[in-house]
Amino acid sequence: VSCDAQVLWDAEAFTSYDFGPTHPLRPLRLELTMALAADLGVLGRATVVAPTAADDATLELVHDPLYVGAVRRAPDDWLGRLALRHGLGTGDNPIFPGMHAASALVTGASVAAARAVWEGPAEHAVNVAGGLHHAMRDRASGFCVYDDPAVAIAWLLAAGARRVAYVDVDVHHGDGVQAAFYDDPRVLTVSLHESGRTLFPGTGFAAETGRGAGVGTSVNVALPAGTGDEGWLRAFGAVVPPVLRAFAPEVLVTQHGCDTHALDPLAHLQCSIDGQRVALRWLHRLAHSIAGGRWVAVGGGGYDPVRVVPRAWTHLLAEVTGGTADGATPNAWRELVAARTSVLAPTSLSDGAHPSYDPWPGGGEPAVDALDASIAATRAAVFPHLGLDPHAAGDPLPAERPAS
Ligand SMILES: [Zn+2]
Ligand SMILES: [Zn+2]
Repeated sequence: VSCDAQVLWDAEAFTSYDFGPTHPLRPLRLELTMALAADLGVLGRATVVAPTAADDATLELVHDPLYVGAVRRAPDDWLGRLALRHGLGTGDNPIFPGMHAASALVTGASVAAARAVWEGPAEHAVNVAGGLHHAMRDRASGFCVYDDPAVAIAWLLAAGARRVAYVDVDVHHGDGVQAAFYDDPRVLTVSLHESGRTLFPGTGFAAETGRGAGVGTSVNVALPAGTGDEGWLRAFGAVVPPVLRAFAPEVLVTQHGCDTHALDPLAHLQCSIDGQRVALRWLHRLAHSIAGGRWVAVGGGGYDPVRVVPRAWTHLLAEVTGGTADGATPNAWRELVAARTSVLAPTSLSDGAHPSYDPWPGGGEPAVDALDASIAATRAAVFPHLGLDPHAAGDPLPAERPAS
């Protein structure tokens, strides 16, 4: 079954978000992703739309006008004092020519995805260049200049949406999006990530549940380093479906950082492409069952540009466009990899893992390991605010095919 989907993409433009040759966020990962998806015919099922840049008024739905001005002037700010005050010009967020234009374009693509889903014609829309979830109101952080998912959500609210849910499966805490809506009861943010005890940005603990009218609308699952598919999916099933059902959003926005993979060089989870695919299928199914099919998906982190990101996001593109991608990677793509890098291309679209897990059993038994202790802490902290029983059982694995 195919869903009406839009893919926001412009090769020249998107690869200009480039912090330089020694930075871990490499435009190559997007180039190799779109090449793999194109070679497999995944893009043939969707409408591919070239985005335009977000204007200042749109960026300022989330960002401080002084910050937007600082980003625009940063490449010419030779002393760098203004820039540094806004997190620009650091090792993580070096200044590059055209930084404002490139960042505003990524944000414009996520806003266009939100608009396509909110106003039609699409049910689902995806921007793999987006997902820059660490950027804050007045500063760059963690390779992120403008917070495109937060701006897209703010755009949806301005367009009349009353409830928007955001689910972030990047290995890092989605701190920028959480901060943008921490006291806003209209936005549920859910982040499933490696614990801030061992990983940037050092936040995202169960006790962060929101502020004021927003208490109960920030949900954080801090996973122990070393968690693999089974634990990751157990946590997902124990928390994500129940809180989404309770919140009943009109739109689901998801962030698909694939740096949970075992090969990712910056983090310490042990997930496989196949485990990530289960979460994708699950989110697709949830978009249909709880958000009327309105689904906006963005990319995110992922720092193995050959062995992980292209396959992870080809599966994302396939899922959003209602298809699947299986079997071997195409010869033409492996040749492109050989021409562009010295890394051996993966030969299969799968890691050969067959993820399964024990669903969260419910009941009030004390947790026996660190993973279950984290899950239990999240449920205890936030479930009562959403009218949910922290001791209820979690969801089982979703069916093979999404309900499109
Ligand atoms: Zn990340
Ligand atoms: Zn669908």
